[in-house]
Amino acid sequence: MGENHIAIIGAGPTGLGCAWRLKELGYNHFHIYEANKYVGGLAASFKDDRGFTWDVGGHVLFSHYKYYDDLFDRLLERRYLNHIRTSWIRLGDRFIPYPFQNNLRYLPTPILLECLIGLHRASQNSPGARSPKLCSSLRSHFGGVGSVGDRSRNFREWILEIFGDGVARLFMFPYNEKAWAFPLEEMSKEWIAERVSVVDFERVLKNIITQKDDVSWGPNSAFKFPEEGGTGALFSAFLPHLKGRISLNKRCTRIETEKHLLHFEDGSEKSYNTLVSSAPLPELVSMLEPPRPDLLTAANDLAFTSGIMVGLGFSGPPPGNKNWVYFPDDRTPIYRLTYFSNYSPKNAPDENHFSLMGEVSYSPHREINKSNIINEVIEGFVKSGILLEEQKKDIVSTFVIDVPYSYPVPTLRRNAALGRIIPALAQVDIHSRGRHGLCIYEIGNMDHSVMQGVELADALLNKGAQPTIAPFIFLQEK
Ligand SMILES: Cc1cc2nc3c(=O)[nH]c(=O)nc-3n(C[C@H](O)[C@H](O)[C@H](O)COP(=O)(O)OP(=O)(O)OC[C@H]3O[C@@H](n4cnc5c(N)ncnc54)[C@H](O)[C@@H]3O)c2cc1C
Repeated sequence: MGENHIAIIGAGPTGLGCAWRLKELGYNHFHIYEANKYVGGLAASFKDDRGFTWDVGGHVLFSHYKYYDDLFDRLLERRYLNHIRTSWIRLGDRFIPYPFQNNLRYLPTPILLECLIGLHRASQNSPGARSPKLCSSLRSHFGGVGSVGDRSRNFREWILEIFGDGVARLFMFPYNEKAWAFPLEEMSKEWIAERVSVVDFERVLKNIITQKDDVSWGPNSAFKFPEEGGTGALFSAFLPHLKGRISLNKRCTRIETEKHLLHFEDGSEKSYNTLVSSAPLPELVSMLEPPRPDLLTAANDLAFTSGIMVGLGFSGPPPGNKNWVYFPDDRTPIYRLTYFSNYSPKNAPDENHFSLMGEVSYSPHREINKSNIINEVIEGFVKSGILLEEQKKDIVSTFVIDVPYSYPVPTLRRNAALGRIIPALAQVDIHSRGRHGLCIYEIGNMDHSVMQGVELADALLNKGAQPTIAPFIFLQEK
């Protein structure tokens, strides 16, 4: 594309992936503008002055792409640890191995029966039900999933249709309401593919009778984690390769679409020919000048969960080998606990310290008291039996980060909204990508985000395909 200047908003995984690929293809007319004073976006990590390393909520590295795996190996020079997931659900006084529905034998008998009867009825009503119908290309993208919970119209109905009322009441409803902070009846069921383990009644029964743990489901059943520096180590490793091509503390505030001009918070401006943005989509749309009321209206149909991540650093020996635990009940505000120093011992200052990280979701549908959140998380750990009362005195460090855009919610109206916004932006040379840039949870992990950037670079320079977004045909840029 000759001397065209490609401007990239955001030095998170998407922006860095795009820049990396442009450079790899020998293209040098690009620059990244990043609002933070650090790179990595939501995948950044921070070291506190007590020597604890923190992620923005527990991140684990797993992948659907060889390109990403090779990039990972190259940037981290193989200095990472390999883990086999040990994750759990905390229910009452016991830990149930994840996925809940495959490990019902851990439940007390009356509850186990309630779940089994519900599952049995569901399997009778919806024979062969596995996961929602996906277009065939998406199905192959996610490695093939079976047919349908066809009658349900939304995520809430789908849970009932597939899991029955016992599993729904005990785990699926309360956990998802807490994590998404969004009404389940306003969420679609199309995102579920590899994000929720669906049920095979015979397998559930067999696991109970043979007393077998069934824990290997899902794409993150094995994962990697950088030896040192947290998840963010992967993204700060891009820096030496992109010297002079990233401006930090550079928040874009306005975009003049006709002049192709970016305005920044510090008063400066830069022109571009093509703009790649990984800023949250509603924010991108609200920066456009002249304003686009049609796109602003469409963006109102997008929804995002916000999150507060609370890290607690302890003195004392690290507890067990758990990776993370889900909390469906209301004894604690968190939906997930990560045993972060179990990901890498170097996440704690030494072997006599350990760290826990709790994630709390909030939204207009689920408000929280931010000013008391650390105490609520600590008390929740005690009430849930994760910490003993006397361990509270061993807390030597706390870390809190508030994330306005944490999860892009797959709402019933999302696809129609994106179908209006993304092609319209492309017509004015703006390509929005990434977790909140595209707002598609199904392709919102780090590997997907890096690859959205990489594939966009291929498309801009060589009209290459963009396989990660291709299944979402409503995005097609006309
Ligand atoms: C709690 C939590 C847990 C997660 N766990 C995992 C996991 O286990 N595994 C996994 O693969 N993924 C996980 N993710 C997802 C992962 O964080 C994202 O996939 C990834 O960070 C998305 O990259 P991105 O570049 O699209 O967006 P971001 O990381 O959000 O980066 C966007 C960047 O754009 C910048 N920006 C925004 N607006 C402007 C502006 N106006 N001007 C300049 N710069 C701007 C931001 O500062 C930011 O740096 C998790 C996310 C969360 C929130």
